[in-house]
Amino acid sequence: MNSSPPVGPRAVALIVLVCVYGAAQGFARASGPQVANAELHWYKGNTHTHTLNSDGDSTPDDVARWYREHGYRFLVLSDHNFLTSVDGLNALHGADERFLLIPGEEITDRFGEKPIHINGLGLSETVDPQHGSSVVDVIQRDVDAIKKAGGLPHVNHPNYLWAISGADLQQIDRLRLFEIFNGHHLVNNLGGGGVPGMEEVWDRLLSNGRLMYGIADDDAHTFKDPGNPDVPGPGRGWVVVRAGRLAARPILDALERGDFYASTGVELSDYQATDKAITIAIKEKETSKYRVQFIGKNGRVLKEVTSSPATYTFAGGEGYVRAKVIESNGRLAWTQPVIR
Ligand SMILES: [Zn+2]
Ligand SMILES: [Zn+2]
Repeated sequence: MNSSPPVGPRAVALIVLVCVYGAAQGFARASGPQVANAELHWYKGNTHTHTLNSDGDSTPDDVARWYREHGYRFLVLSDHNFLTSVDGLNALHGADERFLLIPGEEITDRFGEKPIHINGLGLSETVDPQHGSSVVDVIQRDVDAIKKAGGLPHVNHPNYLWAISGADLQQIDRLRLFEIFNGHHLVNNLGGGGVPGMEEVWDRLLSNGRLMYGIADDDAHTFKDPGNPDVPGPGRGWVVVRAGRLAARPILDALERGDFYASTGVELSDYQATDKAITIAIKEKETSKYRVQFIGKNGRVLKEVTSSPATYTFAGGEGYVRAKVIESNGRLAWTQPVIR
């Protein structure tokens, strides 16, 4: 990952700077299914990270610096029940079209022994855990409180301590986002013992007509023990969002409408969904090989392609189509479902 910031005369017009930076990142610009013909860019970001303001091991300053120096373009600090102000951090680390901190909080609630953690992105004020009379009630009340505070909710690590089931998520209103991959080493992304993994939960929700988009993120707590897989370190999962500019509102709007992909290491150079087809181009690593699976109702693989770009032409009646890119060393990317 290229971590060097773009270099250019300060006097260069913003749009040129954007183009220079976009080219440096190797991203193709393309019009998406929902936003036609606009100047759109890809922004890599992480929506779930902790600092010393809850149980992280580093200051907000050090955490922001880690992400900026590792090629991310935006970061949400999401401490447990604590809304870290980002104004000072943006004064230090933020720069137009280069790096942005978005305020956030991990609303950390529970029902009995079950942890219920919901991220609120872009909050205008602290949201307290709302509690409730069941798992579903707690989630719904926290989601509603986040929205009331101007935030965008995503449900975190449903399989952490096996707290939240697909049937629970099925019942939540006004929710579009949940974590299909969380980088914490104890959250059971893949399921087991008869409990489905997050991707299977996703397909069940989609097959039942619930449109949900899948987030990958770090849930990083530990920055002082790099390389240790048994601590929640940074750099494991992220989203790449397509938006008109690097500002909180366009980034959050793109997440809410599913104009992003989730990744654990696969980078796309293009993604297009029209009413006829989905096309994906991979930014391939020289020594890796790739498979692209187009997945439809009930998790069925509709088509598998082993070359890039990969195209799936809609036949009609798929219910939904989403794509998963599998790299030969286990790295993945997931695009968001298109309803058919
Ligand atoms: Zn959590
Ligand atoms: Zn967390």
